[in-house]
Amino acid sequence: MPGGEITPDKLIVIGEVAKDFGLYTKITGGQRIDLFGARVEQLPLIWKRLVDAGMESGQAYGKSLRTVKSCVGSTWCRFGVQDSVGMAIALELRYRGLRAPHKLKLGVSGCARECAEARGKDVGVIATDKGWNLYVGGNGGFTPRHAQLLAEDLDDDTLVQTIDRFFMYYIRTADRLQRTAVWMEELEGGLKHLQEVLIADSLGIGADLDAAMARHVDSYSDEWADVLGDPVKLARFSSFVNATDYPDPDLLYVAERGQKRPATPEEKQAVLIAGPALQVRP
Ligand code: SF4
Repeated sequence: MPGGEITPDKLIVIGEVAKDFGLYTKITGGQRIDLFGARVEQLPLIWKRLVDAGMESGQAYGKSLRTVKSCVGSTWCRFGVQDSVGMAIALELRYRGLRAPHKLKLGVSGCARECAEARGKDVGVIATDKGWNLYVGGNGGFTPRHAQLLAEDLDDDTLVQTIDRFFMYYIRTADRLQRTAVWMEELEGGLKHLQEVLIADSLGIGADLDAAMARHVDSYSDEWADVLGDPVKLARFSSFVNATDYPDPDLLYVAERGQKRPATPEEKQAVLIAGPALQVRP
């Protein structure tokens, strides 16, 4: 759900899927909805219903773009000076599926009050009266870091092009599992070097980085839909290769706060819960 936007109809489909398959449901900090507790053979059935309703894989499993968090911006907030939701959606649709050395998170705030906490992201965008300020190299996690100001008052196109180049330069030069903050710390020249390469094109690689991102955007496809359309990939979705209709009996759940959660080893000995209705039997 790019931008955290969801129509009532899609929300109803998500709720129906969660009920029908007995899934644990939680709103995430990345402005999405977690659905936990499906068995592997249920995934294609769940994905089909979500894909048919106009949704797609959120790539939450990859070293890739995760979410683009946003506030409501100028559309709904009296302080907003730019459409932060519109920009967040454009960025998420552009970078979805982009594989990288580590996960990538973005944030877009509609004014300097920073309700989207964009400076805690790998790429943070904060609206100004004249355009957008671009911050890079922030993260939460073990060692939280605030992103640093890379460029000020960018128009939409220049903002997107600068983020394109930042991501592609990072993807091509960072070590595996190195997040943007650590990569920037170890980069000779640090922020100043990035400004020279990405904005002044001091290495003459700007057009190459732009073309690489264009190839990514052009080649994107939804991985759920890809699986649903490929019998070979679909065949992998069974708990047991030699008993495809047999669900994994080791997956047991207990009820908590009106939903299910995985049973602890001790609980597995004592309580079994089966099926979406969460019937408890000793
Ligand atoms: S960051 Fe600014 S525009 Fe966005 S919700 Fe907060 S006050 Fe409103």
